[in-house]
Amino acid sequence: MLKFGTGTRLILAGLLAIAANTVGFAGFPVQAQERAALPVAREARLAGDEERTRFVMDVDRMVAFRIFALPDPYRVVIDLPELDFAGADGIENEGRGLVSAYRYGKFAPGKSRIVLDANGPFKIDKSFVLEPVDTQPARLVIDLVPASHRDFIRDIALAPAPEADKSVPADIAKATETPLMPVPPGGAAGRKPLIVVDAGHGGVDPGAKGKSGTLEKDIVLAVAKKFAESLELTGRYRVTMTREDDTFVRLGDRVQIAREAEASLLISIHADAIRYAGISGATVYTRSDKASDRASQMLADRENRADLIAGVDLSEESDEVAGILFDLARRETRHFSTLFGKGLVDQFRGKVKLIKNPLRSARFHVLGAPDVPSVLVEIGYLTNERDEKVMKSDEWREKVVGAMVESVNNYFGRGVAQKVN
Ligand SMILES: [Zn+2]
Repeated sequence: MLKFGTGTRLILAGLLAIAANTVGFAGFPVQAQERAALPVAREARLAGDEERTRFVMDVDRMVAFRIFALPDPYRVVIDLPELDFAGADGIENEGRGLVSAYRYGKFAPGKSRIVLDANGPFKIDKSFVLEPVDTQPARLVIDLVPASHRDFIRDIALAPAPEADKSVPADIAKATETPLMPVPPGGAAGRKPLIVVDAGHGGVDPGAKGKSGTLEKDIVLAVAKKFAESLELTGRYRVTMTREDDTFVRLGDRVQIAREAEASLLISIHADAIRYAGISGATVYTRSDKASDRASQMLADRENRADLIAGVDLSEESDEVAGILFDLARRETRHFSTLFGKGLVDQFRGKVKLIKNPLRSARFHVLGAPDVPSVLVEIGYLTNERDEKVMKSDEWREKVVGAMVESVNNYFGRGVAQKVN
C-alpha cells in the first residue's frame, strides 16, 4: 500500500500514473485516464517546531481550498477539490511540532479533505497556495502557531466566511463550496447561523391522525411556522422552512435543503401516533444506525415511509458514502445533534410534558445529513386524547416554541454577544 507523506513513493506513484496514461500500463487500477485529469498531490510534509509548525503539500497545479479549525479534539480541516493521492488514502502518524498526526483522502464525490490533529489549541497563522515556479510544483502551505484555548475558541467564532481563491477557475472553486463538516455551535463563520425548520409530512402524506380528526401535517406546520417566526424575531438567526404550506416534500429533499443552505441545525417537527393511547408527551430523537429501543425503530420506519406514500423511491441518498474522513464528519455531526437534543429536553422539562426517557435515537432518513446536526421532535402523540387537545391550543404551542427557541439560543451560546432589544 502506498503511503502518503513518504515522498519518494508518492512521486513514484505519480510517475506510474503518467506511464499508465501514455502506454496503457497493464493491470493498472481503474480509470487511469480519468485520474490523470485530477490535480495530483505528490508529497506532504511537516516542518518547524512547537513555536511554528508548517504543513506543506505539493500539488501539480493551483487548487482552491477551504480551511477551518475544530475543537475537541483540536484539529485543522482543509477541504479541497478531488485530488489524486495516487490511490493512497490514509493516515500519517508521524507528527511534528504542534501536529500529532494527519489524514487525507477522498471525502465525498468530487471532494478531498486533509485533517491535521493538533496537540493543543492553535492559531492558523497562514494558509495559502504558492504558484509553481520552474521545477517547483504548486504548494499548499499551512502555518500553525500556539494559542490559548480561549483565543482558539474566539477565532473559531469570529472566523470570516471562507472564500475560495479568486485566481482559481470557478468550477474548481465551486467544488469546495459545500460544507463538509458541521458548523460548530457559535462558530457560524461570521454569519448568522442558518436554521432549517422542517414541518413533517404534508400534501399527499397527512402523517398521523388524531381521534377527533386532527392531522399531523396541519399541527406540525402551525407549530413550525410559529417556531420559525420566533427564531427570526430574535434577530440572531437566518431561518429556512422545508415547507410553508400543505405540500409534499421528499425526505431526501428536506436533507438537501439543509445541506445546500449550509445550515447549522435542522429541527424536524412531528406529532405521531402510537399503539398505546395512554402514552403522551414529547420526545427528542437523534439519528443512529442502531435504534435506542424498539418503539423508536418502529417510529422511524413509519416516518421513513413518507416517501412511499407519494410513490417516490425510497433511497438513502449520499448517506452511505464510505471513508474514514466521512465517518469523522458524521461523528462530529452526531455529537452536535446529541448536544442540541439534550439541551432541548432540558428546556422542555417542567414546561412541556415529556415521555419516559425522552432522548432517543433511530435511523430517521430526514436526519441523514452528514454535515448538518439534526434532531426530530415529536411534540406529542395524536393517539393520546390529552395530547391531541393541548397541541391545538395556542397557549401550549407558545410554551413549546418558547422552549425550542431557548434551546437554540443556548446551543449557539451567543445570548450575551448578540443581545437584541
Ligand atoms: Zn410524523
